[in-house]
Amino acid sequence: MTRDNVSSAASDYPARADAPEPRFGCPRCGSEDIHGVSTTYVSYPITAWDEDGMPVGFGNPEYGDGDEFDTYECRDCLRKGGVDLAEFAFLQPVRLA
Ligand SMILES: [Zn+2]
Repeated sequence: MTRDNVSSAASDYPARADAPEPRFGCPRCGSEDIHGVSTTYVSYPITAWDEDGMPVGFGNPEYGDGDEFDTYECRDCLRKGGVDLAEFAFLQPVRLA
């Protein structure tokens, strides 16, 4: 489903003004201080090489789509000392309300 499909579907069924906003949080601690993490694809045309085959010259970067989140991280779990990804990152938040 594309973004256009999502937005047109949303306008077909406007949310009721009194409907509560859905709330999601960290599956570990329930915090709602969640950040989406995305990887932005950037590629550079290589314009020059050194004798060993290492690129030494680059053209203008080309950017891929970076508008989808790869994962999420909980800032509260990070503040509590999470070091490994497994301690603060997750693929899907849990619904709180
Ligand atoms: Zn957390």
